[in-house]
Amino acid sequence: MEKSYKGQRIFTGIGITSKKASGRLRLISTNEGVVQNKGTSLNKDDEKKRFLDAVKRTIERTNEIAKRAKESLGESEAQIFEIHAMLLDDEDFIGSALGEISKGKSAEEAVTSSAQKYTSILRAIGDEYLSARASDIKDICSGIIDTLSAKTEKGDSEEEPYILVARDLTPSQTVKLDKSKILGFVTYEGTPSSHTSILARAMGIPAIVGVGELPNSIIGTEALLDAKRGRLIACPSDEERERFLAEYRYESKIASEHERYMRSLISTPAVTRSGHRVLIYANVGNEGEVDGALLNGAEGIGLLRSEFMYFERDTYPSETELFSSYKRIAEKMQGKRVIIRTLDVGADKQIPYFNLEKEQNPALGYRGIRICLDRRELFKIQLRAILRASHYGKVGIMMPMIATLGELKRAKELLFEAMKELDKESVMYDEKIEIGIMIETPASAIISDKLAKEVSFFSVGTNDLTQYTLAVDRQNSRVSGICADTEAVMRLIKMATDNIHEVGGWIGVCGEMAADLSLTQAFVDIGVDELSVSAPYLLGVRGKVTDSK
Ligand code: PEP
Ligand code: MG
Repeated sequence: MEKSYKGQRIFTGIGITSKKASGRLRLISTNEGVVQNKGTSLNKDDEKKRFLDAVKRTIERTNEIAKRAKESLGESEAQIFEIHAMLLDDEDFIGSALGEISKGKSAEEAVTSSAQKYTSILRAIGDEYLSARASDIKDICSGIIDTLSAKTEKGDSEEEPYILVARDLTPSQTVKLDKSKILGFVTYEGTPSSHTSILARAMGIPAIVGVGELPNSIIGTEALLDAKRGRLIACPSDEERERFLAEYRYESKIASEHERYMRSLISTPAVTRSGHRVLIYANVGNEGEVDGALLNGAEGIGLLRSEFMYFERDTYPSETELFSSYKRIAEKMQGKRVIIRTLDVGADKQIPYFNLEKEQNPALGYRGIRICLDRRELFKIQLRAILRASHYGKVGIMMPMIATLGELKRAKELLFEAMKELDKESVMYDEKIEIGIMIETPASAIISDKLAKEVSFFSVGTNDLTQYTLAVDRQNSRVSGICADTEAVMRLIKMATDNIHEVGGWIGVCGEMAADLSLTQAFVDIGVDELSVSAPYLLGVRGKVTDSK
């Protein structure tokens, strides 16, 4: 099959990590809309059979998940999956999708349009319970499409490790993936600072983003993914496979020798040749990533993206659940700093159960601290959980997306209210907890002299700071090349650094630029105190700092 393949087989995009992988390509649907098999010229009876088989398999899988959830999580957590299985079996839904296929649509298109029809009917009723069911429908339709997309020439490949293909991955999709099965990622869209790239770096696996739409015909076939060269070869010839393997062996050997050398540096603090000490911290999304961070010599957690705890679920986590997780992380870190960022949802980080309205310009809209200052209870729960965890380690609190002094002051008022509540309840917390903000908007850098007086530290989120400074959507691969010119962003970082140092505070960089070794010297020259990167990058950054002037 591979040798007689006629269509385009070689695709290029932006490589993330410099690794390689080979395996079968498996397509995963995205949250909004779907990577679709187009309906024209399909056999309607075959499509109906594909659809009904996929529904059947999805029901079986959902029932299985419900059973496991009942055993491990309890009755009420399992209920959600039982409801999903019931909705999947709904005659009207199945009838509607079959009707769409009769009109010439593919199974995937039929599922998507039936889902859209049902979700808009449910949302229009304006009832909270029914709106939540609309999110369920979206989820189960993604499940059916995943099942449809998982078909390979061998049949269902779910048990085999695979190279994941998606239009782009949303953060809530990424946390739900069975990561032990993923050899690499290929996304049609996406940029080096999109969430797929952040996840690929955190997992230390190869990825290529922004490859453009791949033909359906290569899904399910074997492919070679070379992230170093940003290249995907589907249906490779014997010669291509041999060359790939030879390069793979050579590059792995060099990489492991380099890693051995880097590991020998772990116990030495990172100090530049001119004596500037830089703290090497880790970015993590959950407890599971903390072990990897410690193993690679993290001196602290510079960014705990707390929204990942919200992505993993179908309902809001309680204060106790957040607290227990933060406490375990603080304890694991044994007195090393743990900076917990309050919820940063909205824009590219959507969570269905937040029911956020669709916006014209989501990146400039309702996100991060803006939501928390509105939904005070939601914010309070997080603040109380972080404060309570601060009794068990060296915890700091960080607010995202600050653009004005007023926002910071209001956020601090709510923090002080949470402290007072805990005082009344005689609950222990660190009264001297460090308070900091992300520098992610040009405005925050420009007024950093004023903001600095209100906090102990800044942490620069270069992913968003770049997006807002250069007016480059961080999800849009067409314009991502503009970000290569870092001068404007660097000037803003310098401004914020000087201002926070002026009042005796410290500054770190936790966006993806912190892991870019070609920028390490520039960060050292600016005088940043900390660099926070995902675990697989810790050793490299530490080595680069020690080599810097
Ligand atoms: C950033 O914007 O650089 C950042 C670290 O936050 P996130 O990537 O989670 O938006
Ligand atoms: Mg950000």
